[in-house]
Amino acid sequence: MPKNIRIALCVLMLSACSQTPLDKLNSGYDAFLETSDASLYKDLAKGQKPHTLVISCSDGRVVPEFIFNAKAGELFSVRLPSADANVNVAVEYALNVLKIKNVVILEHSDCSGLQDKAIRERGIKRLNALKALPAVRNALLTDKDFSVSVMMFDIKTRKLKVFDPEDNDWDSV
Ligand SMILES: [Zn+2]
Repeated sequence: MPKNIRIALCVLMLSACSQTPLDKLNSGYDAFLETSDASLYKDLAKGQKPHTLVISCSDGRVVPEFIFNAKAGELFSVRLPSADANVNVAVEYALNVLKIKNVVILEHSDCSGLQDKAIRERGIKRLNALKALPAVRNALLTDKDFSVSVMMFDIKTRKLKVFDPEDNDWDSV
């Protein structure tokens, strides 16, 4: 059924709106083609120069590009279920090849059924583990512009907090 007829039917009777997952992707892609910046993509075809590595969760409610209002190409993004997977290879690539100077671990509320306190503690542990990786340790020692941080996104309120290791507290962004 042609898309415009289907949309018209949608307005008349809700049952015609039920889309399969593949339909959703197809209509999403149509919208992407209409709204995305073609010239940006032409530029991006020449190469990527992301300013930040974001290590976050696969959870679909936590989309780094939305939260940071980032365009395509701005973030080098690693998304893994929960927190335990190994990100070393991506980190080394980001630092050594892409020369990224900003790394953010993005934690979020309601992750894998954990309490916020446990998620924040996990975030701090991950930050410390990240700082111990050779590529990160070296960057921290040799480049004063390089930074790593852990943030916590609250899904319900959309509030974002960043951990301050100096005073061992979470500040609003
Ligand atoms: Zn999660």
